[in-house]
Amino acid sequence: MTASQPAAATDTARPKLAFRPLPVPQVDVRGFWGDRVDAVAAKTAGILYDRCVEARMLEQIDPDRPSPGVVIPFHSPSPDEADTQGAEFTGSTVTTQMFWDSDWGKTIETAAYSLYRRRNPELERKIDAVIDMYGKLQQPDGYLSSWYQRIQPGLRWTNLRDCHELYCAGHLIEGAVAYFQATGKRKLLDIMCRYADHIASMFGPEPGKRKGYCGHEEIELALVKLARATGENKYMELAKYFIDQRGQQPHYFDEEARARGADPKAYHFKTYEYNQSHKPVREQHKVVGHAVRAMYLFSGMADIATEFGDDSLRAALDRLWDDLTTKSLYVTGGIGPSAHNEGFTSDYDLPNDTAYAETCASVGLVFWASRMLGMGPNARYADMMERALYNGSISGLSLDGSLFFYENPLESRGGHHRWKWHRCPCCPPNIGRMVASIGSYFYGLADDALAVHLYGDSTARFEIAGRAVSLVQTSNYPWDGAVAIEIGPQAPVEFTLHLRVPAWCRNAALRVNGKMVDLDAATSDGYVAIRREWRPGDRVELDLEMSMSRLFANPLVRQDIGRVALARGPLIYCVEETDNGAGLHRIALPREARLEAHPEPNLLGGIVTLSAIGTRAETKNWGSDLYRSKPPATEETTLKAVPYFAWDNRDPGEMLVWLREG
Ligand SMILES: [Zn+2]
Repeated sequence: MTASQPAAATDTARPKLAFRPLPVPQVDVRGFWGDRVDAVAAKTAGILYDRCVEARMLEQIDPDRPSPGVVIPFHSPSPDEADTQGAEFTGSTVTTQMFWDSDWGKTIETAAYSLYRRRNPELERKIDAVIDMYGKLQQPDGYLSSWYQRIQPGLRWTNLRDCHELYCAGHLIEGAVAYFQATGKRKLLDIMCRYADHIASMFGPEPGKRKGYCGHEEIELALVKLARATGENKYMELAKYFIDQRGQQPHYFDEEARARGADPKAYHFKTYEYNQSHKPVREQHKVVGHAVRAMYLFSGMADIATEFGDDSLRAALDRLWDDLTTKSLYVTGGIGPSAHNEGFTSDYDLPNDTAYAETCASVGLVFWASRMLGMGPNARYADMMERALYNGSISGLSLDGSLFFYENPLESRGGHHRWKWHRCPCCPPNIGRMVASIGSYFYGLADDALAVHLYGDSTARFEIAGRAVSLVQTSNYPWDGAVAIEIGPQAPVEFTLHLRVPAWCRNAALRVNGKMVDLDAATSDGYVAIRREWRPGDRVELDLEMSMSRLFANPLVRQDIGRVALARGPLIYCVEETDNGAGLHRIALPREARLEAHPEPNLLGGIVTLSAIGTRAETKNWGSDLYRSKPPATEETTLKAVPYFAWDNRDPGEMLVWLREG
C-alpha cells in the first residue's frame, strides 16, 4: 500500500494556514461510518461495476470491440438528453451516453476506497481491466474521451457547453488519484497526467490556446487533487485558470457556438446561470442554476482560494454560502428543489413532496463545505457539512448499500422508493465514493495544527512537524456525544488541536488529561483550540450533549409554516407510515409535547428513535361529507420518528419530515 502524503503543490507561495484533508488510507473509521463504508465495500462497489457493464459501458471504452454507435453528425443535445437523462444516441447496437467516462471515474473511485477497506481481488482485477482499456484508448497526444473517440470522432473540443468533455476528464482524474492512493498502482494516474498535460496544452491564457472551460464544472477540483497527489503545480495553475476564466467576456460559449455554426441564443436553458458562467465567479453573489454544477464550481473555488490565499475568491464564496444557507437549503442539507433545471428556483421555494434535492447535490454540498474548511476551522461550514452528510446525502443509499435515491423529498405519499439503477446513473457512484472516502472529511491538517471536523469511532495517522502521530477517537457518535480522543505522537510534539463544538449542542464540556478546559475562553468560530506539547498517552475528552430540538422554518417558506421538524444532534428525523400508520398529514405535534429519545439497537442497524405524544385527526366519525362546519375530532397518538437517512428501508409507505404543529 502506498499511502501518499499530500504533496505541497505550491511550496513557495502556499499559505501556511491551509488545512488539507488526510488521504483516505490514513483514516480508519469504525462505528456508524464503519458500517456505512462496509456496506459500500461489500455491496455498492461491486454493484456499480456490474450495472456499468449491464448498461454496456465497457463497449464504449474498449477499443478492441466494435464501436457501440455509428458516426453521427454533430447534434446539439436537448436538455432532456444532455442533463436529465444524458445525451443519448441510439445507434444500431447500443444506447450510449456522453458522460459514461464520469460514471467509470466515480466507479473506479468507489472501488479504490473500498479495496482499501477490504481486499477484493476479483473487483481489483475488473477495475485493472477497465484501466487497461483506457490505456489502450488514449491517443498518442494524450487525449482521452470514449464519447469523442468512439461515438463522435472528429468533434473534440467543439461543444464544452453541453457535452461534459472536461467533466469526464475530471472524474477520471479523481478515480486515478484514489486508485493510486488505495492500491499504489499508478497506471491510471499516469494516463490521466498525460491527458491533463494535453488539456494544459490546449487551454490557458497563453496566445493560441483556447479560452474555454467546461459547462459542467468538475475538472477544477479534480486538477487540485491531481496537483496535491503529484506535487505538480501546473495542474493547480490550470484549475485556477478554468475558475478565473469562467464567465469572462467575450463569452466562450457564444464564440464556440458560432464556430460550430450554431446560434448562441439557441441555448435551451436560455441563461448561462444554468452553468454558473453568467458572470465571472468573483462577481457572483447568488447561487443559481444546476445545483450539482454550482457545488462542484464552489468546491474548486474554495480549493483555489485555499491554495493561493485568494481573498477575492473567499469573499465571493462567503456571499454565495450566505445566499444558499439562508434562502435555498432544505433542513436535511438537500438543495435544488426543481427537476426542471435540476437546481435552484426562487428564494424560500422549498417544496417538500416534489423536492428534487438530488443525492449528488447534497454530496456536492459536503464537498464544498469540506473545502471551505481548507481556509481554517469554522463551524459555520463544518456544521453544514455534517448536516448534509448525515441527512440529505446518505439518504441516497439504502442501509445495505444496494439501492439508490436520485431525488430526496421531505414528504412522500408512499410512492417514492430507491431504485436499482438509473439511466443517468450519476448518484449511485457519487454517494458510493463519498461514503467510502468519509475518513478524509474527518480532519484538516496544517503545518502545525490539526482540526477535528467530524466525530466518530476511528483511528487517524498523520505527520506533523516531522513527527508521526496517531489519533484514536472512541465514541458512539452520532447516537451519543461522548468522544474520547487519544493522541499518540511517536515523540513529544507541539501543535494546535482544533475541536469543533457544533452549534446544535447546547452543553459541551472538555477535559485534557482530566483537567477541565474553559470552552468560552478557548473557542472561536465554533472550534476550541488547544495548543500544547502533545505526549504519548495524552487524552482529550469531549462531551457533547445530544440535544433534541424542534426546528422551525423562516415564515417566508410557505410550505413549512405551522410545521416543525425534529432533530437530535446532527440528525434530522422523519415519521414513517410503518411506525405511525397511514395519513401522516393527520398527525400534529403540540408545542409543549415532551420529546423522548430511545436507543433501539435492533432497529435499522441500531438507531436512536424519538417519540412524543401527539394528536391525530379522526376520520371514523366524520361521515361521507367532504366539507362541514365542525372540525374533526382528534385522538391522542404516540408518534415515533426515525432518522431521515434511514427511511424507506422497511415496509414501503408514507414519510414526513415537517410535522403539523398544534
Ligand atoms: Zn446525481
